[in-house]
Amino acid sequence: MEVTVAKSAGFCFGVKRAVDTVYEEIKTGERVYTYGPIIHNDEVVSDLKDRGVVVINSLEELSSLKKGTIIVRSHGVSRAEYEQMQSSGFRIIDATCPFVKKIHNTVMEHSDKGEEIIIIGSANHPEVQGIIGWCSGKCTVIETAQEAESYEFLGSGQLCLVAQTTFNYKKFKDLVEILSKKGYDILALNTICNATEVRQNEARQLAKNSDAMVVIGGKQSSNTQKLVEICKSECADTYYIQTLVDLDLEMLKSFRSVGITAGASTPKNIIKEVQIACQK
Ligand code: SF4
Repeated sequence: MEVTVAKSAGFCFGVKRAVDTVYEEIKTGERVYTYGPIIHNDEVVSDLKDRGVVVINSLEELSSLKKGTIIVRSHGVSRAEYEQMQSSGFRIIDATCPFVKKIHNTVMEHSDKGEEIIIIGSANHPEVQGIIGWCSGKCTVIETAQEAESYEFLGSGQLCLVAQTTFNYKKFKDLVEILSKKGYDILALNTICNATEVRQNEARQLAKNSDAMVVIGGKQSSNTQKLVEICKSECADTYYIQTLVDLDLEMLKSFRSVGITAGASTPKNIIKEVQIACQK
């Protein structure tokens, strides 16, 4: 059986960087905390827990914890949270993805100049919550066409618009168009990261050329679900698994070619394990 693993399967650059940072920090023997789970993958989070890493869910917890190192995950945090951590006496390692950090700096610079900020994204997403927290003035989050239609700019001068890094590009373009038609002076910055798009395009291509597809990722992972949907549209025999135990290897033997891809929270070792088992 021919087995092909998508090059873009698994962690994106920012997630890999954050997870590697935690594993590196464990080696120092110091107490390690992550602010929120470092990644939405149960296997990784429980492995880190076994190695002594503690997940902090709110900064109020800091007062009752022994001093150590707090690692900020790739989504980033608000300025207030960052400063509160800094003044807490804990050591901070900021593993905010540099693409997200760039958005923090952009909104800070423009709102400090008195410009109003628009964030195209989901208001409840932790990355967007973090970005809001770097704006010093007015900031509006817009996710839907309806919200864009009803938005009214009451200030003067330029509006600065950025996007959540994982926002859908087509939707972003449509929302910018609705806002532009209102005649406002908008500096629209496309801050969408292309890691998701690259992964989806490669999955589509691989599914087209394979007899069966295996997609690895958490059942709650929305980017994995999207990959499954894409692969199914090209290859009817698409299997959605979390780890190797979910895969029926006997059934897979009837296929000549199998493609493997994985969501952004799937570690390489899980992908490798599936690849080796398919090749046996
Ligand atoms: S911005 Fe891109 S590379 Fe960074 S964490 Fe998000 S998806 Fe990954």
